[in-house]
Formats: sequence, structure tokens, C-alpha cells
Amino acid sequence: MKNPLKTTSWEETHLLGKALAKGLCPGTVIALCGDLGAGKTTLIRGIAEGIGGVDSRTICSPTFTFLNIYSGNLPIYHFDLYRLTSATEFFQAGFDEYFHAGGICCIEWAEKIQDHLPASTLFLHFNYTGAMEREICFKEGA
Ligand code: ADP
Ligand code: MG
Repeated sequence: MKNPLKTTSWEETHLLGKALAKGLCPGTVIALCGDLGAGKTTLIRGIAEGIGGVDSRTICSPTFTFLNIYSGNLPIYHFDLYRLTSATEFFQAGFDEYFHAGGICCIEWAEKIQDHLPASTLFLHFNYTGAMEREICFKEGA
């Protein structure tokens, strides 16, 4: 797989998530970093479709509650930390328990807790490069 990857439509980003899901095992933590509208939620919908057992159209960013849990063929823990004020707030809420809860953790705005993520975290950095174009860079570890 090329790195970084370029997608030229939301459907391509969705398909990328779907393909990525095939290689995921329980306990995987995926950190999605990048601006609003960069395509993080779109990719997570694709991951959910790839995992199966959840209607990916119902997935939206849990901006105000920080966490949505979807009971798919594997549990999906979908975080959106846009409104998180500090890494401490994340740990005080006990959210780090989901790193080891046997599902797939997808964390939008993971840059806010970057130094505290498991060493095996898969980082995806999203860059807006055009109205319909996004560059997505994969990296294991911080
Ligand atoms: P984020 O979660 O990063 O804030 P979203 O996935 O919610 O971003 O929104 C991305 C928006 O950009 C959607 O409206 C989507 O249709 C649009 N879009 C346009 N081109 C792309 C692309 N190549 N990949 C992903 N989304 C795209
Ligand atoms: Mg989002």
C-alpha cells in the first residue's frame, strides 16, 4: 500500500476504511489526526462496514459525549476528543480501559492524548489537499 495515500472522494476514503478493517484484530488502537472535515469519521464508517454487524450510516462523531460504542462483529469504541481539555480528563473518565477491552478503538483528535497511547497504536494523519482530495499517511507508533 502506498504511503501516503491520496483519495479523491469520500467513497474512496470509506473503501479504504473497509479494506483496513480486514486486517484488524481485537485490541487495535487507531489514532486519527487531522482537521475538521478531513475525513476521519468517513474512514471510521468504512472500518465499521468492514467489521460488519453495524449500520455504518448511523455512525457520527461523538463530539459532546467523547465516546460512542457500536456492537458490531467486534465492538467498536469511537472516540472524538475535539472538546477534550486535557489528557488528564481522558484518564479520569477511565477511557483508557477501552484500549484493552477486546474491540477496535478509533480515536478522532488523538493528537490530544498522543503521548499516552499504546506503543502499537496505528496513526493515520489526514491532510486536506483539495475539495474532494485527502492525503492519508499511515504510521505505526507515535
Ligand atoms: P472529520 O471527521 O475529519 O471531521 P468527516 O469525515 O466528518 O470529517 O467529513 C469529511 C467531509 O469531507 C464529508 O462531508 C465528506 O463527504 C467530504 N469529503 C470530500 N472528499 C473527501 C475525501 N476524499 N475523503 C473523505 N471525505 C471527503
Ligand atoms: Mg469526525
